[in-house]
Amino acid sequence: MIPYGRQSVDDDDIAAVTAVLKGDWLTQGPAVDEFEARLCEITGARHAVAFSSGTAALHAACFAAGLGAGDRVGVPALTFAASAACATYVGATPVVLDIDPATLNLDPDAVPADLEALVAVHYAGLPVDLGRLAARPRVVIEDAAHALGARTPDGPVGNCAHSDLCCFSFHPVKVVTTGEGGAVTTNDDDLAAALRRFGRHGVVPRPDLGGWAYEIAEEGHNFRLSDIAAALGTSQLAKLERFVTRRNHLADRYRDLLTDLPVVLPPAAPVGWRHAYHLFPVQVPARTHVYDALRADEVMVQVHYVPLYGHPRFGGDPAAFPATEAVYRGLLSLPLFPDLTEDEQDTVVVKLEAALSEVVA
Ligand SMILES: *Cc1c(COP(=O)(O)O)cnc(C)c1O
Repeated sequence: MIPYGRQSVDDDDIAAVTAVLKGDWLTQGPAVDEFEARLCEITGARHAVAFSSGTAALHAACFAAGLGAGDRVGVPALTFAASAACATYVGATPVVLDIDPATLNLDPDAVPADLEALVAVHYAGLPVDLGRLAARPRVVIEDAAHALGARTPDGPVGNCAHSDLCCFSFHPVKVVTTGEGGAVTTNDDDLAAALRRFGRHGVVPRPDLGGWAYEIAEEGHNFRLSDIAAALGTSQLAKLERFVTRRNHLADRYRDLLTDLPVVLPPAAPVGWRHAYHLFPVQVPARTHVYDALRADEVMVQVHYVPLYGHPRFGGDPAAFPATEAVYRGLLSLPLFPDLTEDEQDTVVVKLEAALSEVVA
């Protein structure tokens, strides 16, 4: 069986976790601080705040930015539900946007002018060109769940060059993993403090009232990352460059191997940019047949994603999203992860070719 994505966990990752288990803190101790410091070094952001999941990170970003009832929050149609759900968690309204078929990202030139906020998703790991936003809403949140390790000419994704907050996920299929986990980076001191309060019950220490005293004035949750998870994350971050380089190598190899097949390849990173290749989403004819045939052959392709307007919760008329509809019709993510071997990749291509030969005359 070849999955579409899979974590790479080695003995040094296991040793890092074991060391925490033998220590004094299992949660919210020095390992979380170290993980956050490493994320700052890698992204160049002033602050990084760890969370229990990427979804919690997005929720915290929406709360910290002060979004609420009446606020319209733009989000591309082609993304995971959490990119839109985060707006609903704070009472705001997701506004689903059609994608640009050339990037599979939202179209920076077509962002409506009446939005309070934008959740910009770096789909598959290719950064959105946020420097080109026609209309910059008050709040720009990057959903960089796919894009740790990606770069634009303005630097690493996560440095918030054109955003207020940037959210990451460390789910096992993402670029690095903590099991479950997420983080938000920002350069704004007040936003960073608000993020920390939100993920820690809204607690504000009040040493002026006594060493034990604290006060809760606003909404908060237990969205903490554990030290166990953070230790895994720090160990994984040491391999980020290797992981992303390997993903790029395998993506280039897919491009070569697939040249003569009737598939649309995913957009590549422009010169001066770096793709993180969380996914390798191609577009194929007769997608249902190709999906079923590959899965029956133990090649576990996946579809990323059912567009947001396809869910009754975020619903809308598919006809209003012609670009997303056209892409979604053929969309299929081929296996791509650092430990995928070239032999396995060759197997994927041979089986894809066989499935396509059954549907293409
Ligand atoms: C994975 C993902 C998330 C959510 O992250 P979790 O850590 O699974 O909560 C959000 N947005 C996108 C685009 C994702 O792919």
